[in-house]
Amino acid sequence: MGQSKEIESFADLRKVRLADEGFVVITGASKSAIIHKVNSKCITTDKFNSKVSINDRKQGSYFWIDSVATGAREFGAKRCKICKPELHLVLPSTFGE
Ligand SMILES: [Zn+2]
Repeated sequence: MGQSKEIESFADLRKVRLADEGFVVITGASKSAIIHKVNSKCITTDKFNSKVSINDRKQGSYFWIDSVATGAREFGAKRCKICKPELHLVLPSTFGE
């Protein structure tokens, strides 16, 4: 079973980045969800602040996930083309680009 957990605060975000395990899904109101590496430069405190704190998650949310497969299954998320999270033990044929 895959695991996911919403990242609700800077403290949560700091915790997952320090642990350096799993991935982060950023969902959007209009765009499809994207999976990023947990320590990717794509994830900035500025963006997190504007989405989660200022807009109260109406524009999207951040979730920690244990694997790319979980992100694809639970959020229909795609891999980020910039930080390219690895697929880890999942057959490449499972995912379309
Ligand atoms: Zn990324």
